[in-house]
Amino acid sequence: MIIVLKQNSTDKQIQHILDKIEEMGFRHDLSRGEKRTVIGIIGEEDKLREAPLKAIPGVDKVVPVLKPYKMASLEYQEEPSVFDLGFGVKVGGGNLMMIAGPCAIEGKDILHEIAVAVKASGANVLRGGAFKPRTSPYSFQGMGEEGLKILQEIGHELQMPVVTEVMDPRQVELIDKYTDIFQIGARNMQNFNLLKEVGSTKRPVLLKRGMSATVVDLLMSAEYIISQGNKEVILCERGIRSFDPSTRNLLDLAIVPNLRCLSHLPIIIDPSHATGRPELIPAMSLASIAAGTDGVHIEVHSNPEMAKSDGPQALLPEQFDEVMKQMKQMAEMLGKTIPTPAST
Ligand code: PEP
Ligand code: MN
Repeated sequence: MIIVLKQNSTDKQIQHILDKIEEMGFRHDLSRGEKRTVIGIIGEEDKLREAPLKAIPGVDKVVPVLKPYKMASLEYQEEPSVFDLGFGVKVGGGNLMMIAGPCAIEGKDILHEIAVAVKASGANVLRGGAFKPRTSPYSFQGMGEEGLKILQEIGHELQMPVVTEVMDPRQVELIDKYTDIFQIGARNMQNFNLLKEVGSTKRPVLLKRGMSATVVDLLMSAEYIISQGNKEVILCERGIRSFDPSTRNLLDLAIVPNLRCLSHLPIIIDPSHATGRPELIPAMSLASIAAGTDGVHIEVHSNPEMAKSDGPQALLPEQFDEVMKQMKQMAEMLGKTIPTPAST
């Protein structure tokens, strides 16, 4: 449910409305947009419907949000969300986040080498997994806290925000000390306890679409995070399961315009996990920009053969450089900005 305030409502009236909502046992979210000031009321819809909200001074109208996802919906917020990721990098509203880096953090020297290269090519967020959700329990599981330290150190040195995956609610506190952005992997998109836990932090969350998740499922997972107080959710399409094994997953590129009709949240594309094939990644990256994505997520490794995870899908730094050049041109043509992290 949202309350649209009268144009001339006073601060005192607004405070009174907020107090009233709390008295009734609901939570609220005040947002002062350019066109209108609205208060979102968070709580059970049935009980909300019975509350006499329209009668409170300063209230213009009370609008039910019909979608099952409430605060993630376009009904709730018309303007696209823009989030600050750190080091001057923004995503949303025409700002593109370009995430690059290896699948896993494998050591300081190798991460440094890859990070310097991707930054020089124009990446503005560095990625690397320290806790890896591997299909086999016998595969490399990640460097853990030691890896997080390396990622943070290199992020600071190069003045780039970093993103890393969190797999378990018990890891949130630890990872929060080292990362700028939390990544929730496809396999954990519906780990609701994990979503609630990152929802109570103040860091942006990169939420990857589950491999069999519908668009509404994805938005409901975003809603879990937002309902805890953290509005900074970035959606990520990384391919869905299909019957065709010729690509690792099936890239649902239509999700970009599809989500634009449903939500104000940024949506980025991960052509690396979506295709699993380096030769397909450049074309799909460009297609993502053409589709209007808010960013691209690409795995890069300087020695894919030796990579401990997802080597076969990694681009070499020179291949990444080439595709970045093309994406920059296309972004410019479409009037989009690729923010440069604050220089050292
Ligand atoms: C990853 O980003 O390395 C990863 C494991 O991604 P996903 O959760 O999309 O499989
Ligand atoms: Mn990977």
